[in-house]
Amino acid sequence: MNSSDSALVTAASAGSELLSFASKLYPICRSITGNGVRKTLALIGDQIDLKQHEVPSGATVFDWEVPLEWNIDDAYVLDAHGCKIIDFTAHNLHILNYSEPARLSVSLEDLRPKLHSLPDHVDWIPYRTSYYRRQWGFCLRHRDLTALQPGQYQVRIDSTLAAGSLSYGECVLPGRVKDEVLFFTHVCHPSLANDNTSGMAIATALAAWIGGQSRRYSYRFVFAPGTIGSLCWLKRNEHRLARVRHGLVLGLLGDPAPLTYKFSRRGDCEIDQVVPYVIRSINPASGTIAFEPYGYDERQLCSPGFNLPVGRLTRSVNGGYAQYHSSADDLNLISADQMQTSLEACKRIVEVLESNRRYLNMAPKGEPRLGKRGLYGSVGGRSPADRERAMLWMLNQSDGTASLLDIAERSAISYADTRTAADELAAAGLLKTLEGPKPERAAALSRRRPASRVRPLRAQGRKDKRKGEK
Ligand code: ZN
Repeated sequence: MNSSDSALVTAASAGSELLSFASKLYPICRSITGNGVRKTLALIGDQIDLKQHEVPSGATVFDWEVPLEWNIDDAYVLDAHGCKIIDFTAHNLHILNYSEPARLSVSLEDLRPKLHSLPDHVDWIPYRTSYYRRQWGFCLRHRDLTALQPGQYQVRIDSTLAAGSLSYGECVLPGRVKDEVLFFTHVCHPSLANDNTSGMAIATALAAWIGGQSRRYSYRFVFAPGTIGSLCWLKRNEHRLARVRHGLVLGLLGDPAPLTYKFSRRGDCEIDQVVPYVIRSINPASGTIAFEPYGYDERQLCSPGFNLPVGRLTRSVNGGYAQYHSSADDLNLISADQMQTSLEACKRIVEVLESNRRYLNMAPKGEPRLGKRGLYGSVGGRSPADRERAMLWMLNQSDGTASLLDIAERSAISYADTRTAADELAAAGLLKTLEGPKPERAAALSRRRPASRVRPLRAQGRKDKRKGEK
């Protein structure tokens, strides 16, 4: 077996491991609180070092309150003949998530307003929730709804709404510096595969992989219920948010759509440069979308009181595929290949974040003589001309303002070749590594262009985003 064959086999088995973990998570009835989340965190905790946190019901979290804990054992509706016409044990989407307990006899007329279906997709069960309005309800295939006959129905919901707690999990991987990269994924959806067993499986595998790497940054993975879970995490971690240098919300990473990056609210963070670069290098059809206060936990992480440098990586976007929030978002929608490519993208993003640095040219007056330092000639399969070109770009741009990725993008030389050139020049004493965050991009841009030709950064961002949406 040659090395490229073995790489393919490794990639394929990693993809099937992701899919098999997603399949394990899929049947669990999750919600924003309860044992489904705990069971999910336990499975994730079998693979990575995960600390489980509990926030008690009634705890005030900014403008919100942690609700009563919801658990459910069984729920069904019997028709006049005693036949189960809706059965929670057959599919957990059949219950309106967070339904209060119920045991009653109702006419079809009274039952009808409690039933939810999708008239445009008669064979799919919708996913519906009612976290903050106490009620009960069922979801069913529209085909089954329209077949219901007039008569009495027996409704039984064995659920509990009681003082308990909200659970979230956290995996912290310390690095050489305390600055952190934050990965966030939601763990509150029941049997929906893309949204979000795919995100949970990929975040778990990514944490396991980073755990085995030598790393500059510290990494923090948060597995939390959407909205109220991220608010709880923010409330408990407010004192350390200044350490978050980069962040990414992960979700919806298993479906066939190309990867999509959603910009942070700030729009000009390093993560906003790194992720579009990486996903387009993997597949030019990958896209970007502008920030909007709608979606997953970027809504909380990028609220104005936090405004964290956090973007979002998905394939399809929330609401952007027909099967979204329905029983058709099942294990057939996600594939090992798609999951594997998504994980690979996350790994490359981490590699660029880890290695993206600024350098200072130590011989900036004229071009230094490369030949006398042994920096001419063919190395590592690159032609002497390509090697020299990458070095000249590195030397020319390394005035302390441009990062490796800035230089790779400006020169159209690959990031890997730019990085190799930087390593070789640093080893020869021609470049010095600079630590710490780079000056604001806007400042760097204005230094690179004559003042009269500087376009406002915000306008450039808009143009880039439109390009990506096609
Ligand atoms: Zn969702």
